[in-house]
Amino acid sequence: MRQNPLNRVVTVCDKCFKASCWHGIFMCDDAQTAGTVDKTVAQLRELNVENKDWYSVEAIRKQCGQEPEYAFQPSEREGGR
Ligand SMILES: [Zn+2]
Repeated sequence: MRQNPLNRVVTVCDKCFKASCWHGIFMCDDAQTAGTVDKTVAQLRELNVENKDWYSVEAIRKQCGQEPEYAFQPSEREGGR
């Protein structure tokens, strides 16, 4: 099955929603107490808080050693909105 790149899941800081913060590259003021949250690429693009290069497949691989993971689209799970 071909995955939609927009459904790729990226772990980000739950305060600033930046992957670069979670990776420790550009840590926000709340980074010390922040947790993490999983966002899809589509959500991160909507938030638009950092350059997409920071959560590219290559960047995640390099920073976390993780292969890309994909979520189901809300429309597939809940019948759209
Ligand atoms: Zn942060």
